[in-house]
Amino acid sequence: MHDHRRLGRELGLFDTDPLIGAGLPYWLPDGAVVRQSLEDFVRTLERRAGYRHVYSPVLGKRELYERSGHWAHYREDMFPPLSMGGEQLVLRPSLCPHHAVMFRSRSRSYRELPLRMAELGGMYRSERSGVLGGLTRVRAIQLNDAHIFCTLDQVAAEVRGALESIAAAHRAMGIVPSRHRLSLPGPGGKYVARPELWERATALLVRALDELGVPYEEGVGEAAFYGPKIDVQVVDGAGRESTLSTVQVDFHQPEQFDLHYVGPDGARHRPVMVHRSIVGSVERAVAHLIERHGGAFPAWLAPVQLAVLPLGEEQDGAARELAARCLELDLRAEVLGAERGSLGARVREARLVPYQVVLGPREVADGALAVRLRDGRRLDPRPAGEVLERIGAQVRAHAVELW
Ligand SMILES: [Zn+2]
Repeated sequence: MHDHRRLGRELGLFDTDPLIGAGLPYWLPDGAVVRQSLEDFVRTLERRAGYRHVYSPVLGKRELYERSGHWAHYREDMFPPLSMGGEQLVLRPSLCPHHAVMFRSRSRSYRELPLRMAELGGMYRSERSGVLGGLTRVRAIQLNDAHIFCTLDQVAAEVRGALESIAAAHRAMGIVPSRHRLSLPGPGGKYVARPELWERATALLVRALDELGVPYEEGVGEAAFYGPKIDVQVVDGAGRESTLSTVQVDFHQPEQFDLHYVGPDGARHRPVMVHRSIVGSVERAVAHLIERHGGAFPAWLAPVQLAVLPLGEEQDGAARELAARCLELDLRAEVLGAERGSLGARVREARLVPYQVVLGPREVADGALAVRLRDGRRLDPRPAGEVLERIGAQVRAHAVELW
């Protein structure tokens, strides 16, 4: 595997600058395309799985995190509060408290459950400067997050659904997890002390894993402070393991925020919160994609999907027309004209682009395209419309296969 920091710079995807600060990367246009494609994909996947998207602010009053338990259990990882007019504001260390408050912003009926609230939102972690690097250890994080508010009876199915969405996303991203970890509390950790709730939550996670037949290993000391979780682990280029996706069952925050819904019996009941992230932080997900694919992303993520190589200047007009046609079809094409060097040099320059077409006099006269795939396959010439339709279908299907 590759080092995403080196490739990120070489391919012009992202970078950092000491003047902006360590752990605060910026995204260049090609990196922004990858990120945006991933975000669009995740939002679509979530919509289809019954999630509704929300936005909430990246700041909250200190009292919000005292209530959630972050202040007591997680303060070392938070930025110091900002003092404003007698109040203290905190850059949020997670999205859960905002979503809990949004759930209780109106009365809820059991008919609304499971209520699935999703957000791709900013959060912050005060990582020490010594450990910062690339996109894997950052201080400003864009998290693909969601909270499912549901009844106890609904938890197992929601956990299963989340694991299925995670598996579908990993397939489309061409990612193979190293293992599933059942993350449990350990000795000496800062956990919310309610043993009976921990046992109940753990049993629900195990049930979902068993029902899907997913093998897992226990990770003692890896739980969130408020509950156990299933972590989907990946290994990076240096052999380090990290968590990409996660599903957690939480009885703690619903109590802290006094969440309730009105049941069929007309009485108030406490919902359970399932926290889940399909791709985790966008930064870490893209870092892993870069390392996993060495910059040769699946076509739907590729900054340039189709490289158009006119044989000579005479084909420049046709090449630009083809690129314009791609733009209309939401395909990302780039013309690499003869001024960029020999055909061989341009083919090498476009080696990470999933589809290449060489336009010579014959192709222009026939309205045909001879496609070279990134994996070395060369296809017979076929009508341009047919080629673009096929590529478009692969991209829309988020296929890993090129053809
Ligand atoms: Zn959460």
